[in-house]
Amino acid sequence: MRHARLLLGIWIVGTVVAAAPGAPPAAAEPTWLAGIAKAKITPEQPLWLAGYGARDRPAEGTLHDLWLKVLVLQTPDGQRAVVVTSDLLGFSQPMYEAVCAELKSQCGLDRHQIMLTASHTHSGPVLRDALYDIYPLDEGQVALIEAYSRRLEKTVVATVADALSQLTPAVLRTGKGSTNFGVNRRNNPQAQVDELLARSAELTGPVDHDVPVLAVRSPQGELRAVLFSYACHCTTLSEYEWSGDYAGFAQIALERSHPGAVAMFHAGCGADQNPLPRREVRLCQRYGDMLAAAVEATLRTPLRPVAPRLRTAGELIELPYEKTLDKPELEAALDKDVYQQRRARRLLRQLAEGKSLASGHHYPVQAWRLGEDQLWISLGGEVVVDYSLRFKQTYGATTWVTGYANDVMAYIPSRRVWEEGGYEAGAFHVYGLPTDRWTPDIEERIAGTVGRLVEQVK
Ligand SMILES: [Zn+2]
Repeated sequence: MRHARLLLGIWIVGTVVAAAPGAPPAAAEPTWLAGIAKAKITPEQPLWLAGYGARDRPAEGTLHDLWLKVLVLQTPDGQRAVVVTSDLLGFSQPMYEAVCAELKSQCGLDRHQIMLTASHTHSGPVLRDALYDIYPLDEGQVALIEAYSRRLEKTVVATVADALSQLTPAVLRTGKGSTNFGVNRRNNPQAQVDELLARSAELTGPVDHDVPVLAVRSPQGELRAVLFSYACHCTTLSEYEWSGDYAGFAQIALERSHPGAVAMFHAGCGADQNPLPRREVRLCQRYGDMLAAAVEATLRTPLRPVAPRLRTAGELIELPYEKTLDKPELEAALDKDVYQQRRARRLLRQLAEGKSLASGHHYPVQAWRLGEDQLWISLGGEVVVDYSLRFKQTYGATTWVTGYANDVMAYIPSRRVWEEGGYEAGAFHVYGLPTDRWTPDIEERIAGTVGRLVEQVK
């Protein structure tokens, strides 16, 4: 985790890209330029599926294909932002670093202009250096995963370059829908949700049922892309077929309904939310249909126009661990569950090689402003719902908060969840980081950074 030290700190804000390709249109009104591209990323080899440690064999088929999709936005004065969405569990820190380095050298893009998002589907491939300790991977699988991940990094860069090469005038509008299949999984045990719903009982606990929508149309009104989000784990399915889970079904439904348009899903702050009940393809299809219907309904409302102005800012902050595990603690973990054993063996090997263990993580936070008032915050890791509720209260109900962005390294608890404890307080034994807790002030550190960045993009 130390190798990114030089990158720590404030990223340059709103750099004007000189001599950008794709000159502004000769229209009377200056407009956005948008470029859209996509690439199929369904593994062709039998890779291990990501997200669940209980799987005992690689993928055996495809329910539907996995996609990587890119939207590039450029203002008349050359400001740029790049959104990547993907049917993946989440990018690891080494992959994020590799992609940012290549996008800088090949496309002149700075880190604060790049938002690398994932749906967090649990039916996508394991990626390099991501949760290795929970899977029973042999050397052959690791080699396949590393090779796929390197190809994927190249695909991300090539797809961004593809989108950049085809910028055309565009009109942007935003809106907000709603759907309610996301359930607070800490408050509503999975086994009880069926019964609670059957007797029309109220499900409890904080939730965020908003469906933020960004419509990208040609000046003639043709829908070219629709970006949407939802704060809920993409965990309806847990079998052995590739799929984008409910987010995959939603994107398929929208693209079928709007031929020629690209539908792009990014995950919200749904780390403590599950689609319940679950585990059946018909339920996954149902949730995809519900989400797509929320987007469709929003597209039929008067959406808010977004003026072609853009500010982008970001920081990598040092998010400290409460305590780094030491050798005696790691040796004691050799008697614990299999995840902890694998983590302990790996970290003890690092210590034996003379490497020190990190005392914190370089955590990515971003804030973008589209037009006058569309604020878009993105946070790394598995972010619990309290963050989106807090930022919407602070910055306005139309604020978008994307989780699982850029680097998914662990769970990101709020102060409340940190104090309550449980899986969403960190799950470091799953992610393999050398600690068992963030510091108690994690929410204030992140909120403080967001506050600074929001000021910068005003
Ligand atoms: Zn998760």
